[in-house]
Amino acid sequence: MDYLNSKATLEAYSSDSSIYTVAPKLVRLVNSTGDIVNTLQFAGQNGMTVTPRGGGTGVVGGALGAGIILDFSNFKKIMEVDTDNRTVVTQVGIIYDELNLFLRKSGLYFPPDPSSGDSCQIGGMLAGNSSGPSSLKYGLTSDFVEELSVIKPSGQQVIA
Ligand SMILES: Cc1cc2nc3c(=O)[nH]c(=O)nc-3n(C[C@H](O)[C@H](O)[C@H](O)COP(=O)(O)OP(=O)(O)OC[C@H]3O[C@@H](n4cnc5c(N)ncnc54)[C@H](O)[C@@H]3O)c2cc1C
Repeated sequence: MDYLNSKATLEAYSSDSSIYTVAPKLVRLVNSTGDIVNTLQFAGQNGMTVTPRGGGTGVVGGALGAGIILDFSNFKKIMEVDTDNRTVVTQVGIIYDELNLFLRKSGLYFPPDPSSGDSCQIGGMLAGNSSGPSSLKYGLTSDFVEELSVIKPSGQQVIA
């Protein structure tokens, strides 16, 4: 089943780390880019909003929405590590600490270091340009982004 809508699921996705509560109508677990495109098309045809959700650690209710929630927790594959150029290509659902645990094997480190690093995802960090104690010396999330593959509301995929 593409969309989840049990009472328990909708309740679980109706809160994040903010003070707000908003119950969605549907939830979809993202496993591929196609899932995102299909959901955007479905939402457009049915007049529904789409809200991406990472680790749900945001404190301003950004991961809450009354339409469809796209949960990126399964979208966490690391595709490529280039030690010479010190770059990594990854899907956005990977948790910050998990990424650094993986990169440590190659002697690399992604520094922004938010205190919520054991739960927040790279997608959420990108959306909020997260930072932490290491940012004073090394910089914010945006200082470590070379290229993004972005899916527009129309479903069109662009490289930014
Ligand atoms: C205890 C605690 C400590 C924290 N410490 C810090 C800190 O030190 N520094 C800091 O900067 N922040 C901190 N935060 C805030 C928060 O953890 C960060 O902003 C974090 O990066 C959010 O990531 P997330 O994956 O949990 O995003 P979520 O809360 O799930 O979502 C946040 C926003 O990102 C969007 N989003 C998520 N995934 C995607 C995606 N794949 N594509 C597009 N948009 C997406 C959501 O729609 C939402 O608008 C803290 C929060 C808590 C609760």
